Amino acid sequence: MNKVSNNWIIFTDLDGSLLDHDSYSHKAADGLLGELEQDQIPVILTTSKTRAEVLSLRAELNNPHPFIIENGAAVFIPQGYFTTKPEGCIETDGFWIFRFCQERSYWLAILEKAKLIFPHSFSHFSVMKEEVIAQLTGLSLEQAQQANQREFGEPITWLGVDKAKHEFILWLEDQGGHVLQGGRFLHLSGACNKGQALVWLAAEYKKQRNLPTTKTIAIGDSGNDIAMLEQADLALIIRSPVHESPKLKRTHGFFISEEFGPRGWNAGLRKIL
Ligand SMILES: [Mg+2]
Repeated sequence: MNKVSNNWIIFTDLDGSLLDHDSYSHKAADGLLGELEQDQIPVILTTSKTRAEVLSLRAELNNPHPFIIENGAAVFIPQGYFTTKPEGCIETDGFWIFRFCQERSYWLAILEKAKLIFPHSFSHFSVMKEEVIAQLTGLSLEQAQQANQREFGEPITWLGVDKAKHEFILWLEDQGGHVLQGGRFLHLSGACNKGQALVWLAAEYKKQRNLPTTKTIAIGDSGNDIAMLEQADLALIIRSPVHESPKLKRTHGFFISEEFGPRGWNAGLRKIL
């Protein structure tokens, strides 16, 4: 790696980017992760996963930096990471937390109302047994427990007919919800995305570390990464073995990896740096 100045910040998606789509391995990226840590370039895990899921991976990677959970719903900064607590953060469990979205209980209350209007038409994580979540997601029981520790939104499975599903989504949007349609679940949450979380955290680095500027690199492989891929100074799209690469509006400052997952992460990021 070339010697780079100390104002780079790397924001990376996990599944399909830093982690292999099938095996969830990050092995191909481990060498570069070590070099970045040595050069004091923070790697910010930026994911749709929950805090519990990220904490496990972060420990495994020995990553001491802030992280972004649940698609940009909140930024977690280890207490003491900066000299002062950033404005607007709450302090809990050893973290300074900046939230962009209402808590899960807010969305669960809306779903309770929805049950009167769309009876027996849907189920959602908080009322499912964890065995069922494991079955639906293909996760292990332990992983399913971590995935169920949502703080800012709720995954829903639709059980009714397709036409009513559309009405259901419109109704949730009327209540102020944002509904993301994933492969298996509808995900109900607030108006948050990885892009605004990136902008907020980069500004905090600049302020706290007294940097003249920051240089952000966003790395991602799918639709929920678009907001941060557009916002960052440079974007690296990781090619996916299972879906099309996200289409960006930006016309420069972006790269597409040749390889999939952590191999593409390693080679692509080395090229940029
Ligand atoms: Mg991904």
